[in-house]
Amino acid sequence: MPVPVFTHSDCLKHDPGPGHPETPARLRAILDRLGKDQTVEVREAPPASREPLLAVHPAPYLAGVEALSAGGGGALFLDTILSRDSWAAVLGATGAVLAAVDHAIGGQGHAFAAVRPPGHHALAAKGMGFCLVNNVVVAARHGQAEGRGRVLIVDWDVHHGNGTQALVETDPSVRYVSLHQYPWYPGTGAADERGVGNVFNVPRGPGKPAALYVGDLWAAIVAATTDWTPDLVLVSAGFDAMAGDPLGGFTLEPEHYADLTTRLRDRLPAAPIVGLLEGGYLPDRLAAGVTAHLRALG
Ligand SMILES: [Zn+2]
Repeated sequence: MPVPVFTHSDCLKHDPGPGHPETPARLRAILDRLGKDQTVEVREAPPASREPLLAVHPAPYLAGVEALSAGGGGALFLDTILSRDSWAAVLGATGAVLAAVDHAIGGQGHAFAAVRPPGHHALAAKGMGFCLVNNVVVAARHGQAEGRGRVLIVDWDVHHGNGTQALVETDPSVRYVSLHQYPWYPGTGAADERGVGNVFNVPRGPGKPAALYVGDLWAAIVAATTDWTPDLVLVSAGFDAMAGDPLGGFTLEPEHYADLTTRLRDRLPAAPIVGLLEGGYLPDRLAAGVTAHLRALG
């Protein structure tokens, strides 16, 4: 069955500037690849209002992002840089994320949101690490509001999702499992950061065999879903854990994302899976990783 990929054209307009790794070329490479793939259906979602973002971020923070963008852009924080279209990209990405969740929880099958900027480093009132709003936690809160009470977030981006962890670590209705390079940006994600028992961090050094990363992440997913069954699975799907990525030192290949996706489907057959794009900084490799994930979802 074709897996729908939800996106919004404004996601291509957010531009942190020349030489920045989080370039529009990333999403363009994915959409170009998917446009040639018969097993995937790309859908333009309507943009969201700011309302679903208020479940995660305080209004003054969102107003600040909107104002900086409307003024032509600039640095929100260090290398997290806005352009004039960044706020429109946020609303477009949020719309795509919500549409993907609605598709999945409506019983229509798994889905993917091909969006940027990424989200998992965004804290409630602070954007960082190229992230402005936390897409995956916005998705989780939307799913919960629609009746999916228990949400599993699997984060296989090579960086720890410090924002996601901070936003859910006191909430036992969400479990967060993250494989990430450590120590590495952003510095969080030690194994003893357990939240209220709902955080499962898998910090690992660079350059190890891919089977070790996959096996250790899978063991953490099994631990998180023993005696606890999610109603919705969200994947913070970064692809910067692939061999050769300039922002990480892991060794994964497209087949490993397919393997993990298949294992998730087999272990949690009652829970729809929604993948959300996070990092991945070699556009062609990123597109290959996304394609592998989608084929395993379909
Ligand atoms: Zn990353």
